[in-house]
Amino acid sequence: MITIKKPEDIQKLREGGKHLALVLAALRDATKVGVKTSDLDALAKKMTLDFGDKPAFLNYKPKGAKRAFPASLCVSINNEIVHGIPSENRELAEGDIVGLDMGLIHEGMIVDSAITVPVGKVDAKAKKILAVTEEALFAGITAAHVGAFIGDIGVAVEAVANRNGYSVADELAGHGVGYEVHEDPFVPNFGMPGQGPILKPGMVIAIEPMFNEGGSEIRHGADDWTILTKDNSRSAHFEHTILITDGAPEILTKS
Ligand code: MG
Ligand code: MG
Repeated sequence: MITIKKPEDIQKLREGGKHLALVLAALRDATKVGVKTSDLDALAKKMTLDFGDKPAFLNYKPKGAKRAFPASLCVSINNEIVHGIPSENRELAEGDIVGLDMGLIHEGMIVDSAITVPVGKVDAKAKKILAVTEEALFAGITAAHVGAFIGDIGVAVEAVANRNGYSVADELAGHGVGYEVHEDPFVPNFGMPGQGPILKPGMVIAIEPMFNEGGSEIRHGADDWTILTKDNSRSAHFEHTILITDGAPEILTKS
C-alpha cells in the first residue's frame, strides 16, 4: 500500500531531512585517508542522537534478513554497492570511493539519503562514476513530478547509465519511505514510460541510483549484509528522499 503523508508528518520529514543532510555533510568532511569506517558510523550516530533523533538502520531487520543491521550507517567501499557494515578493522585508503547511506528517524518519521565520496586523490574514472550517478539521481527526481509514473523515474535514471556506459545494479531499487524504512512503491532504476503507480501529492519516495562500472550482476557478502558487484567492478550510489507535490518534487534531504 502506498501511503499519503499528512501535512504534520511532512513537516517532521522536512526537519528530519535537514538533520540528515547535516549528518551526511559532516561525514563527507570526515572521509579521509586512514579513517576507520567505524569512526564514520560513530560520528553519524552521535550527531543523530544530539539532534534528539534515532538512527533508522541500527538493529533494522527486514523480512528475510539473517540478522539485524549492526550499525547506524552503511559504508560501502569500491566494489561494494550498498549495505556495507562499518568496522574498526577497515581504514579508508587513498583512491577509494565510499558510499555513505543513512536513515534517520525524527519524531517517528523516517528519511533516507546517501552520497558516494572520494578518499584523497581518486582516478578520473572514479570521478566520472560519482558525477554520473549523482546526475542520474537528479534526472530521476526531475522525472518524479505529479502525474508521472514510477516507471518514468526508472527511464530517466537508466538513460543516464546507458549513455555513460554504466550498468544499473540488479535487484536493488528505491522505495517509499516515511512511516517505515521501506514502504511501497518499489522504485526501480530502470523502467518503461507510463508503467507502475502514478505519482500523487503527499507520496514520499527515496530515489537511489546504484551504477556499476562493469556488469549489473550482484553478489552477497559473507557478513549477510554487504552487497557487492559480481565482477568486483566499482559502484556508486546517491539517494534523496523526496516529496511529491502539486508542483515540482521537493527534496527533503537536501543540504
Ligand atoms: Mg539509503
Ligand atoms: Mg533507501
